[in-house]
Amino acid sequence: MSEIRDKNLAASGERKILWASSHMPVLSSIHEDFKREKPFDGLRVALSVHMEAKTAYLATVMKDGGAEVFATGCNPLSTQDDVAAALAARGVQVFAWRGESEEEYDRHLSKVLEGGPQIIIDDGGDLIMRMHTIYRDLIPGVIGGCEETTTGIHRLKAMDAAGELKIPMMLVNNAQCKFLFDNRYGTGQSVWNGINRTTNLIVAGKKVVVAGYGWCGKGVAMRAKGLGARVYVTEIDPIKAIEAIMDGFEVLPMKEAAEIGDFFVTVTGCRDVITPEHMLLMKDGAIVCNAGHFNVEIDMEGLEKIATKVELRRDSIMGYELPNGRSINVLAEGRLVNLAAGDGHPAEIMDMSFSIQALCARFLADHKGEELPMLNYVPAEIDREVAERKLRFLGVSFDHLTKEQQEYIDSWNF
Ligand code: NAD
Ligand code: SAH
Repeated sequence: MSEIRDKNLAASGERKILWASSHMPVLSSIHEDFKREKPFDGLRVALSVHMEAKTAYLATVMKDGGAEVFATGCNPLSTQDDVAAALAARGVQVFAWRGESEEEYDRHLSKVLEGGPQIIIDDGGDLIMRMHTIYRDLIPGVIGGCEETTTGIHRLKAMDAAGELKIPMMLVNNAQCKFLFDNRYGTGQSVWNGINRTTNLIVAGKKVVVAGYGWCGKGVAMRAKGLGARVYVTEIDPIKAIEAIMDGFEVLPMKEAAEIGDFFVTVTGCRDVITPEHMLLMKDGAIVCNAGHFNVEIDMEGLEKIATKVELRRDSIMGYELPNGRSINVLAEGRLVNLAAGDGHPAEIMDMSFSIQALCARFLADHKGEELPMLNYVPAEIDREVAERKLRFLGVSFDHLTKEQQEYIDSWNF
């Protein structure tokens, strides 16, 4: 039995899923394949990904491929209740609502695992962690899992290095058709969409500080520049810092950037990137948000401790008065602003990410009973298949090597 906020919201959620899926041609073509081939016949799938329209379509594709699907979110603030209701009406067991307490969030993770999954689709590593702690006895039944995001991959690698990872995992985030587009262009657009619709303030002429110049940071900085902002970058990696400089941005430590910024966006995957020490240096009215990792990049606990007054200023904007007489605004409780205060990445982007997910899940089903390594990079053929299908649906042709060119590239004695 699903646990959702209100099943009467299903009609609105169904419209959102149909709109999204009609802009996801690659996943739709895989959907057709799966309906015919039923690669997941008799398999149970546990899924923990932001519970919104594109994810609901992925769950539908898995279900129509023969799986029994148990789905929850991967962030207590990103579930859209109407989508959860529509997905439940589509026959998926859904355990999620927007604004879950920590206990409810954990209970919902447990609910999808208690189905006894053979395949796990995770985003951020919470399901896998739980499987390895509370549900260890279910591990022998699992064929493998797929991990959606950078932070989840870091956690898996740390588990593997400690000899603790017992489930073969597909590193979906590290597929080129994932991180090159989702992390960069997806985050670049959806973060500004989240900030703009939450604050309704102008970006042109403002100073934007982007913490972290990885794939997400590059996208967020690029789009801030496109909106007319002056962009500042903080980094801990000297090579990324040079990349940011060569892309035309100023690089400086957060202690200096704190005094300059009008908007701050953290996308590092690290903790305590913005601390009370930085907040006390910020301009009155500065807007601070996170698009990286859970709610740890901005030290929210530290902020609560120093704040002299806290007030809701607009939906998803909390104002904090500071002891120095200034105040700052934190969006979406310091959680991913693009998903907690927006619809996340656009459908055309999730089309590629979730096509990789679907094909990796099929790869696991096809390798049932075989011994796989614990960490599996996505096979190049899957990446290429998704890219080729995407180009086909975009109506774009591209060149292919001639036999002579291939021979030349493969030779050394010229
Ligand atoms: P990445 O590894 O490519 O980039 C992270 C960058 O942050 C690196 O360049 C690193 O040197 C830098 N960094 C680390 N700690 C720092 C610190 N304390 N101060 C300044 N810079 C620091 O990772 P990515 O793919 O860009 O992902 C970043 C985070 O965003 C991850 O947590 C990932 O899971 C998440 N993510 C979010 C979304 C979204 O929709 N909001 C999408 C994709 C990824
Ligand atoms: N679960 C953690 C980890 C970050 S989630 C957290 O909530 O803090 C980041 C992932 O969200 C990205 O890798 C991206 O693929 C995914 N994402 C972005 N937009 C999405 C959308 N519209 N629907 C589903 N997932 C989305």
